[in-house]
Amino acid sequence: MKIAIIGGGAAGMAAVWYLGEHHQITMFERQATLGGNIRSLGRNVPRAGLPADLTLDAGVVEFSLENFPRFHALMDELDVELHDVPGTTALFVDGCPPLASPGNTLAAGRTWVARLAAWWRLLPVARAHRQFFACTRDVSLAELYGRTLDAYLDEGPFAEWARLLMLYAYSIPQEHLGRLSAALAVPALRTFLEPHQWTAIRGGVYTWIERVLERRSPEIHTSARIRAVRRSSSGVGIDLETGERLRFDKVVIATTPEQVLHLLTDATDDERRRFGAWESSEVCTLVHSDTGLYQRRGIRYFSEFDLFHTAAGLRGYNAYLNRLCAVPESADTHYSLSYGIDEEIDPASVVHRQPHRTPLYTVEAMRTREEIKATNGQRHTVFAGAWLDDGLHEGAIRSGREAASLTG
Ligand SMILES: Cc1cc2nc3c(=O)[nH]c(=O)nc-3n(C[C@H](O)[C@H](O)[C@H](O)COP(=O)(O)OP(=O)(O)OC[C@H]3O[C@@H](n4cnc5c(N)ncnc54)[C@H](O)[C@@H]3O)c2cc1C
Repeated sequence: MKIAIIGGGAAGMAAVWYLGEHHQITMFERQATLGGNIRSLGRNVPRAGLPADLTLDAGVVEFSLENFPRFHALMDELDVELHDVPGTTALFVDGCPPLASPGNTLAAGRTWVARLAAWWRLLPVARAHRQFFACTRDVSLAELYGRTLDAYLDEGPFAEWARLLMLYAYSIPQEHLGRLSAALAVPALRTFLEPHQWTAIRGGVYTWIERVLERRSPEIHTSARIRAVRRSSSGVGIDLETGERLRFDKVVIATTPEQVLHLLTDATDDERRRFGAWESSEVCTLVHSDTGLYQRRGIRYFSEFDLFHTAAGLRGYNAYLNRLCAVPESADTHYSLSYGIDEEIDPASVVHRQPHRTPLYTVEAMRTREEIKATNGQRHTVFAGAWLDDGLHEGAIRSGREAASLTG
């Protein structure tokens, strides 16, 4: 078959992998480079003056062994090298004592007295954590689909940590955190709160996209401007803004969901209702080398999941990249990836600014998801994306694979 795949993020590229062995694939990506939220400095975006042996990720960066089985299986197939990384976390709310995970406290090499004090501060957090597990254990999926995460959280430090972890996982602007659907967040939190072995890709996450391209060689249109996608009983027509009109047997739409109605000029009423419920947000991450945000708070150990709520009301994260991106230990620069706390970062230390577009997982949008999955594949059209699954890389790969099986 001749198959068009629209959207060259993880889900679209997974679909290229699973379909490309037997079918003729044409990939349409709106941006100048493939990867979507995968942005590896020195691979699919410019290295920005970094040393030649350094690749830093400015988007997707880490995966857990326990919860990303399909992703890890694909990396094995593609001979992509991964390395283990710690997954320590801490919460810094200005005006309150910091809260650090036991892994963080141990790795920081604190004295026993300091460790005991840190663990003592965690006791109420551990209690709230247990309560969260107890009150979400037997909740039905139908109930979760009707509520926001806030329905299951109080106002204590555990709740703040949980909200900020979700802000981190799904790149949600803080003003939208209160709209986050429990159907996505509760299962995610329940799995994130278990112990994990985290992994990262040596040489940058874009490495796996390069391997797919080497082995499948799809026809690629980057900077593609699609004017219309029209379905008929015999297949799919794609009109480009250049005036070109192309014919395919099937189309896989692997964009963010709010894009679908811009593409489908012949959308049915049901498609309009389902996809009209989705919004997205434009967020910007910074790769920087500023450690001032730690020094000002007297923090000596930098974690992979450091969450901040500043006195100025900013909520966001700083992920220490040196361990995540295997920066040689001899390097004397500390690199981080941050989001939501730009005013804390010295602009002179910013190596790269990366815009990303992410779906907003609101209750209204998530309610349409089961219906989209149940009807996926009709009219020669298959939808794919992390948003149809866990919102993360595991979900993107699973969804790309599912799209391949629905396509044939
Ligand atoms: C800053 C950040 C960090 C993240 N970190 C992690 C992490 O560490 N681990 C993890 O598992 N997940 C992480 N994620 C989640 C990440 O979004 C998913 O893991 C996954 O990469 C999403 O893939 P996708 O293909 O579903 O969507 P996307 O990556 O959004 O890809 C969609 C693609 O469609 C293209 N597109 C949109 N509209 C059109 C159009 N009209 N025509 C053609 N192309 C179009 C877009 O340009 C994009 O390339 C992170 C996300 C962000 C934003």
